[in-house]
Amino acid sequence: MPSYTSVIESSTKDMRPCFHCRACERRDYTACPTLWSHRVPDCASPPYFGGAFADYYYLASTFAVYKAPAELGDDLLAGVNCVVSQVIFGLEQAALRYGDRLAIQGAGGLGIYMSAAAKEMGAARVIVLDSVPRRLEIARAFGADDTIDLSVVTRPEDRVRRVRELTDGWGADVVAEVSGSSNAWPEGIAMTSRGGTYLSMGAILPDQACSVVPSDVIRPSKRIIGVAHFEPETLHKALQFLVTTRAKYPYDLLTADRFSLEAINEAFAAADTRRAPRAAIVMTG
Ligand SMILES: [Zn+2]
Repeated sequence: MPSYTSVIESSTKDMRPCFHCRACERRDYTACPTLWSHRVPDCASPPYFGGAFADYYYLASTFAVYKAPAELGDDLLAGVNCVVSQVIFGLEQAALRYGDRLAIQGAGGLGIYMSAAAKEMGAARVIVLDSVPRRLEIARAFGADDTIDLSVVTRPEDRVRRVRELTDGWGADVVAEVSGSSNAWPEGIAMTSRGGTYLSMGAILPDQACSVVPSDVIRPSKRIIGVAHFEPETLHKALQFLVTTRAKYPYDLLTADRFSLEAINEAFAAADTRRAPRAAIVMTG
């Protein structure tokens, strides 16, 4: 039985596969429904330490643990789990190849790390779309070759045209939705090249719907895939990625917005209003 991950899993104590269901039998662990039994961590019942923003965290016996390389400090390690590992696994699932063109919808933490990961994985061109100029500026510092400001290019059809212009009229081989909005789907599918892949990782809220024309996917042989988790081995790759790129990209920009635990509501507000790409809670003492 394989061990599963996470070093710093933050959202629930049940984020591990069951190893008994149909998906687990097929070794498709990220599709295990147990991973999606998203219970709110309850610190009043055993094993107590199942959530984030705490001094201690309970690791189940099935979790894989990777030792953090000495070169990586807390600021860098904070993003290794639900950002770096997630975007590397997503791009692998989308079969991003050397020389590919990638368009990223959303320049939050996922989009910014994905720019750098894609460049390190050999992407020839990375195009990032967002409505906040500061976030686009950071994306460029993290490897994005081109950015499209949604507050300037306001019409979806113009953004699709721009992505096509930047990809020899062909469209991006992979388009990744990390914006959290289902509205991105029709536009993102239109930006995807013939034979390309639309990767959706952000629009996870269950009440979000959108309208898509199946023929626009079927006739040009596009793929649509969803990715919400990652395999344990990805954590090892993510740690190596941070070691090799720690001096190449300005990671300090991502943790520039720092808040004490007492000011945690302020941190959430900063994240909600997109003022901070990654609001950092800094524990002292
Ligand atoms: Zn399972």
